Amino acid sequence: MSYREYTVLYITRTGKSIAEATVRTQITYPESIAYFCRHCGEVWFRVCFVSPDTVWRVASAVCDKHEGGPYDYITIPGCLMEDDFLHATELREAFWPVTLEYAPLEILKREFLLTAAVKLGA
Ligand SMILES: [Zn+2]
Repeated sequence: MSYREYTVLYITRTGKSIAEATVRTQITYPESIAYFCRHCGEVWFRVCFVSPDTVWRVASAVCDKHEGGPYDYITIPGCLMEDDFLHATELREAFWPVTLEYAPLEILKREFLLTAAVKLGA
């Protein structure tokens, strides 16, 4: 199998890219991810493969402007790697390298701070 290399951008709701990763994968049609807030309907984050072959997947997740609702008790608003995603069975291969294996330090720090704020009550 041959590998392809993609640039992945991590884009906020304002359209600003806050981090970049280089992903090396066998995937031919990589899936970019649009994070859709299930409370306000806003697309609040995008993990975007820079490729004409990319297709978009919508991830339903609570944005950082909301505390979630009664069905969101295990979620952390604004997290890209929320628990639902990590345990979902329908995720395709493309999601994992972006969120876990290739996530740049800026994104890991962001995830840590969001998680720590909730877990420590900060
Ligand atoms: Zn929201």
